[in-house]
Amino acid sequence: MPIATVNPATGETLRTFDPLDAAGVERRVAAADAAFRRYRTTSFAERAALLRHAADLLEQDEESVARVVTTEMGKPLAAARAEAAKCVKAMRWYAANAERLLADEHPDEADVRDAGAATARVHYRPLGPVLAVMPWNFPLWQVVRFAAPALMAGNTGLLKHASNVPQTALYLEDLFRRAGYPEGVFQTLLIGSDAVEGVLRDPRVAAATLTGSEGAGRSVASVAGDEVKKTVLELGGSDPYIVMPSADLERAAATAVTARAQNNGQSCIAAKRFIVHADVYDAFTDRFTAGMAALTVGDPMADSTDVGPLASERGRADLEELVDDAVARGATVRCGGARPDGLERGWYYAPTVLTGVTPAMRIHREEAFGPVAAVYRVSGRDEAVELANDSPFGLSSNVWTRDDSDVEHFVRDLEAGGVYVNGMTASHPALPFGGVKRSGYGRELSGHGIREFCNATTVWRA
Ligand code: NAP
Repeated sequence: MPIATVNPATGETLRTFDPLDAAGVERRVAAADAAFRRYRTTSFAERAALLRHAADLLEQDEESVARVVTTEMGKPLAAARAEAAKCVKAMRWYAANAERLLADEHPDEADVRDAGAATARVHYRPLGPVLAVMPWNFPLWQVVRFAAPALMAGNTGLLKHASNVPQTALYLEDLFRRAGYPEGVFQTLLIGSDAVEGVLRDPRVAAATLTGSEGAGRSVASVAGDEVKKTVLELGGSDPYIVMPSADLERAAATAVTARAQNNGQSCIAAKRFIVHADVYDAFTDRFTAGMAALTVGDPMADSTDVGPLASERGRADLEELVDDAVARGATVRCGGARPDGLERGWYYAPTVLTGVTPAMRIHREEAFGPVAAVYRVSGRDEAVELANDSPFGLSSNVWTRDDSDVEHFVRDLEAGGVYVNGMTASHPALPFGGVKRSGYGRELSGHGIREFCNATTVWRA
């Protein structure tokens, strides 16, 4: 894949970039390693001051960087601004909380004595340079979600961003440099995915985090496994959105539209499979379909646009194949199901609702990475759980009900890294984020996230 900015709204190639050669990669890895040796000894207060400065600069840059993001991957400009603001918030949150999250842990006195020690504690130390392989769909947020905690813990970062967002990748490197971070603490590697293995096998690189597809995750995790290096994987999702009879249907349907169509439908935590109890099936599906059909598709730079183009031509073709397969196997197109009229130049696809979806269809097991909803009818709670769990993925899940016993059951039984009740999945710095099954392993954000790239060191003293 060439490293290039190609505007998804027009298909036009705006800029291309030469990938780093071997000497360029070597210089950066060496700089990350050298920087780590000094940066690891800085205090939390010093790191927090740097991260706060980066947050302030990003806040000032919100409009200009949002335009870069929208140009490179096509999300509506308002969503790109919101993404930048979310990054600012997470940076400030980690600046304020990292020291507390990584404070020494003290076991019970009795256990310390039982271990034969006068004192014992757990002390968190950074691991070293961490390679971050990141996707284009939230090109600022995915990086900051890794970098804010990793840098606060004292690690250094090497970013291999998706090949279609090079300007965003370079912006991020420049942001940390302008904030005053020492040289080498955070760098962008403009490399293709074929060069990832070499970086990961470099003994100076301590660990890796990857957000992206299952295939990319498998590839990075197998190399890291071979090198016995820690990884965190944030992979795909096909989150269920369960609507039970006691749900507030107006809110459930309105939220379902946002949950499916956010980010032009290209979010790992978008609700993708809508599992609706028969008692409210028609009422919910009619409202949901009307909401999806009413979305404005168009130029992502326009304020009136709800849904812009898909990020790549390949991405749209994959989505079209999933819809065609479902229709060929008997699904009904309630709205959309085609490229919208009048938008021939970009990679647009109309918001689509499919009903009559069955496990025999590809869309049941594969991730629909675009504004296409699969709707199922179920007759009760157990069937809803069974259908929801009948997926290779387990990222998050959504449940709409006013019945507390429903909530208890879904929290107990849904195979997912999150259960969001009467709302849609959204990440927050204070809450762990991640999945189970083919959605990956490890957690980002919160104390769980910052400790992923730390060495939990036992300090035992006689
Ligand atoms: P992708 O093709 O897997 O790309 C993600 C990153 O991995 C890019 O930097 C890509 O580089 C790199 N990559 C691809 N194949 C690789 C390989 N074999 N070895 C090393 N690196 C490789 O994913 P995408 O299509 O950009 O992103 C969409 C996917 O990401 C969806 O499945 C989505 O659900 C998932 N995602 C998950 C989360 C989460 O938090 N769980 C968040 C966002 C997205 P190139 O661009 O150079 O190919």
